[in-house]
Amino acid sequence: MAITLMDLPYDKGGLEPHISSHTLEFHHGKHHNAYVENTNKLVQGTDLENDDLETMIKKTAGDDARIGIFNNSAQVWNHSFYWQCMKPKGGGLPTGPIAERINADFGDYEAFMEEFKAAGATQFGSGWAWLVLDNDRLKIVKTSNADTPIAHGLKPVLTVDVWEHAYYLDYQSRRPDYLYSYVDKLINWDFVNSCLG
Ligand code: MN
Repeated sequence: MAITLMDLPYDKGGLEPHISSHTLEFHHGKHHNAYVENTNKLVQGTDLENDDLETMIKKTAGDDARIGIFNNSAQVWNHSFYWQCMKPKGGGLPTGPIAERINADFGDYEAFMEEFKAAGATQFGSGWAWLVLDNDRLKIVKTSNADTPIAHGLKPVLTVDVWEHAYYLDYQSRRPDYLYSYVDKLINWDFVNSCLG
């Protein structure tokens, strides 16, 4: 069963002016799609070809001989998750159960957001910043390149892509400005709540 490219959960222009349709056209249509095509090509004829994405990722994590499959399949998963973490007119104060969980585990929303943005800003080179559940406690982690928390027994509830292709067309090298927009204007808290269960 081939891995497929998920549709964006909004129009290509739906996140403007914070993320342009031009960025989404490349990021989803070219980058994400290439990870899907590469994964399908690489697993063809192997023991992984009938596995679902999460199984492929877990089976190849830490296996140097299959690093290409890990990188591509993890990037497929990470991007599918990232698209769902955003919505038009999102961002700002959390609503629902996540609001209380953030207060309990970080003190308050401000402390959480400063730590989340700092994680994205200080990830050296390409990678991701995440809010994860670690044994039922919320925690912020960073991963490099394609690496993903699901390969480390953590449960993601929010992520931001800090590869340059995520923001360069709209923000050039101003990654902190992209992170500010992401947090203030784009986070889909309903999706985050749906990941807590
Ligand atoms: Mn990306």
